[in-house]
Amino acid sequence: MMRACSNCEANIKFIDYYKQFIRNRYKYICKDCGTVYSVTGFSIILNLIIMLIPMSYMTIKRLLVPNIIWILIWGFVLQPFILLYKQNDINNDY
Ligand SMILES: [Zn+2]
Repeated sequence: MMRACSNCEANIKFIDYYKQFIRNRYKYICKDCGTVYSVTGFSIILNLIIMLIPMSYMTIKRLLVPNIIWILIWGFVLQPFILLYKQNDINNDY
């Protein structure tokens, strides 16, 4: 998740972050300075692993309802905390 903007150093309220998480999922735009952040590939992979381990277990055990509940909790509660963001390199011209 995002706690502060590394460009303008504004603190990011969780609710603002969460709203953008629901809308943009893997992107965050600082509302003070407009800096664009994207989720790192590593944290997406980490996220998928965290989701897949209990999911495969419950699929094997045919636990359909707990599986759906797990995916909802993962998608809307866990994922925003696990995701790591880095500033986009749009402004860096090499
Ligand atoms: Zn900012």
